[in-house]
Amino acid sequence: MRNIMVYDVAIIGAGVSGVFTAYSLAKAGKRVILIDKGHDLAERQALLPDNPQIQYEGFGGLGMSEGKYNYTNDFGGGLSHKIGSKPATLLMQEVDQILCQFGAQGATFYTTDDPALMAKCQQAGLTMLTAQVRHLGTVKSQQVLRQIRHFLDDKISFAFNTTVQSLAKQGESFQLSLSDGRRVNAKNVVIATGNAPSEWLEQQMRRFDIKEGQARVDLGLRVEMPYSQWQPLLQRAFETKLKLETADFTATTYCMNPTGRIIRKYEKGLVMADGQNCNESDVQSENLNFTLFVPQYFPTQADAKAYAEHIIKAINRGGERIVVQRLGCLNQGKPTTQQCLIANGVKPSLAADGGYLPDEVPEIYLAAAGEFFQRLSQLLEQPISADTLLYGLDAKFFAPQKVTSEFFETTTGGLYLAGDCSGVTHSLSQAAASGLHIAKRFCG
Ligand SMILES: Cc1cc2nc3c(=O)[nH]c(=O)nc-3n(C[C@H](O)[C@H](O)[C@H](O)COP(=O)(O)OP(=O)(O)OC[C@H]3O[C@@H](n4cnc5c(N)ncnc54)[C@H](O)[C@@H]3O)c2cc1C
Repeated sequence: MRNIMVYDVAIIGAGVSGVFTAYSLAKAGKRVILIDKGHDLAERQALLPDNPQIQYEGFGGLGMSEGKYNYTNDFGGGLSHKIGSKPATLLMQEVDQILCQFGAQGATFYTTDDPALMAKCQQAGLTMLTAQVRHLGTVKSQQVLRQIRHFLDDKISFAFNTTVQSLAKQGESFQLSLSDGRRVNAKNVVIATGNAPSEWLEQQMRRFDIKEGQARVDLGLRVEMPYSQWQPLLQRAFETKLKLETADFTATTYCMNPTGRIIRKYEKGLVMADGQNCNESDVQSENLNFTLFVPQYFPTQADAKAYAEHIIKAINRGGERIVVQRLGCLNQGKPTTQQCLIANGVKPSLAADGGYLPDEVPEIYLAAAGEFFQRLSQLLEQPISADTLLYGLDAKFFAPQKVTSEFFETTTGGLYLAGDCSGVTHSLSQAAASGLHIAKRFCG
């Protein structure tokens, strides 16, 4: 039997939250092992073109993607609710400093802050959500991760292509058996396994009695409208994020793509309407698209999934069907026909079935769109084009929030949940910040 290796902290999951925890601990001279079921960075980069799974797993996790770090408490998770707005902001500033230290300083940096526009939005009954944005893009993201990986190389231990077969607390420390045969003793364990549903994490939750709160699922219509109508709101930024709050619902614009296209998204056995950035396609459109998401909460993740499945599978009709309706037709209470779509001023960028949304989509999503367009029209000082197209439906699933302390510690002392698996963060910036926050606990 091999010797047991002793560490201060074992981190399970090498996505941004795990990597930022590891970086901070390595700098403080802590003994750390970083374990991930995916590949190390160099292998990931070599395998990436042929294997889509590599996009999600291994060193850097989802941080290998677009690398758009939104520094804000307005969206991207509830870090500020957990630790306070100021500490959350400071941690995100630290995330940016670290990224810059490892090569991100040349990457696009901008703010969506625009006090005059914010005031106009407020007058129209909308809230403009703002962020400072460091947009690395895929190439720079990988370069930055490579430099962080290089920094960590001789400071911590790694276990890639490795899972944790057993995790148990004995006395004041944890014993881990790894699938590569290694045995590890660690004073603390940070689980940082991301948002993807995980049987392994569920096992740990049962074992350590980690309770979880409500599950959230956001559903909404994907909107495609003339780009020219939105242009006045996009003078300073690529995207404007607007929020509408009423007594009955909250609706937020998400993933805006000026001159982009609508595409099909395949997730959890569902086919949904998603948006594609204009840079990802050779063909640009004259339209702008975004989803108007309305969050709903359920007692369990299974309930949230069942709700979304019930609605979206009925639209899909056992295939890849997506329904689309012209706003003008919806307002007149009549279905949109294929002829209507052919003659429509806004040319649909996705081939979808013309239909009548009230027959297919719960009232709340239509009410949200109706109220939102009314306010948007007030903001733009012009009516919203009747040729605007509404596609059903898009969905976004969230891991339920787990019960943890303000330092993300579970009721089992020494066991922490970082990043998206905590259910608190939903973005690169907040996931990375949560890792730094937890590391401060060990180094403070
Ligand atoms: C397609 C896509 C694009 C996105 N783009 C953006 C964006 O541009 N900006 C933004 O702010 N947010 C974006 N997000 C969200 C963002 O990527 C996540 O919020 C963030 O990556 C979460 O970081 P994390 O460390 O918690 O998890 P992840 O980055 O998901 O990393 C989790 C790691 O844990 C490993 N792992 C999982 N289970 C185990 C296990 N049992 N044992 C060992 N290892 C395990 C995985 O292999 C992975 O490496 C995007 C999400 C998706 C799906």
